[in-house]
Amino acid sequence: MSTDNNESRTRTTRQPKRGVPEGLFQRCPGCQEIIFRKEVEKRLGVCPACDYHWYVSARERVRQVLDEGTFEEWDENLEPGDPLEFVDVKPYAQRLVAERARTGLRDAVVTGTGMIRARRVAFAVTDSAFLMGSMGSVVGEKLTRTVERATTQNLPLIIISGSGGGARMHEGILSLMQMAKVSAALARYHEAGGLYISVLTNPTMGGVAASFASLGDVMFAEPRALVGFAGPRTIKATIRLELPKGFQTSEFLLEHGFIDRIVSRADLKTEIARTIDYCGK
Ligand SMILES: [Zn+2]
Repeated sequence: MSTDNNESRTRTTRQPKRGVPEGLFQRCPGCQEIIFRKEVEKRLGVCPACDYHWYVSARERVRQVLDEGTFEEWDENLEPGDPLEFVDVKPYAQRLVAERARTGLRDAVVTGTGMIRARRVAFAVTDSAFLMGSMGSVVGEKLTRTVERATTQNLPLIIISGSGGGARMHEGILSLMQMAKVSAALARYHEAGGLYISVLTNPTMGGVAASFASLGDVMFAEPRALVGFAGPRTIKATIRLELPKGFQTSEFLLEHGFIDRIVSRADLKTEIARTIDYCGK
């Protein structure tokens, strides 16, 4: 047996596949109930018993939120370079090839325009399956262009964040500068009178949380999403204090005024449309 086979076998036993697993029935990580998979899929990847929200891919998110057949993708072919020739366990260039093959995405964000209940919007969604949804030069550039097009075309802007990685270390300073770049574009959009609805999903962390994801005029979050900058373990080790119960969850952040509303996945499309109307956009 080759080493490769051994490796992949170990990996499948240790790391369950993202999202709703294959098979007729599955166990919910939220309530441990055994649930009929079709039922979960019908509910857009949400547990019927406990409202646990599974990961959904960026492409699936487009299908869930935008009106059928209305999505026109922007900058689909933008790809990152490897200016540092970065190598950790394996070279960044190889890692990108593998991530592309696994996710079918060119990078961690999908952007474009489409309709939400017949209202045209600029739309972006980051995918935590692609290098943890981290923001490198391509994610930053695609988001910036999306914000700029929303500004010139006078469109409401919706960004759904699912990013555990923050800034992408493989691109060093080129990743870090994206935080400022996207934020500056959002400031200009704001000055032009645009409406930006930011939707936080599990997880939204690091440089993504510290830039565009936190800058919404209206802040939505899915139930029980992990949202924060540094992880709880890091914070605990640094400040040496017990963290409060529910720390860095949507519910905790709602209570403390960081987000405006917790929105279940099934209601997201309607809530976005309603907010656009309410704000007169
Ligand atoms: Zn459940």
